[in-house]
Amino acid sequence: MTPWIAMPPPPSLNECAWLGCGHVAQVEVFITVPGSSRRVGSVGRFCVGHAVIRGIQAQTRHHGQLWYCPARPQARHHIQAASN
Ligand SMILES: [Zn+2]
Repeated sequence: MTPWIAMPPPPSLNECAWLGCGHVAQVEVFITVPGSSRRVGSVGRFCVGHAVIRGIQAQTRHHGQLWYCPARPQARHHIQAASN
């Protein structure tokens, strides 16, 4: 037993950011924070179940609007950017 708590390795792009989950991240959660010029922040990438839990937690904390986007693991060169 180690007397200290090791920091977990950063989750890979495909993995749910929930500690110890290990499932594939299918959803990326965003939140818009009211006031302060409506910042949009990424809460993280999670599996579906954890995306909902984490989203609710973030909404409770920030009172913002939640957005769920499909997390495409290998979409780096295949991004359909929404041009506003
Ligand atoms: Zn998960």
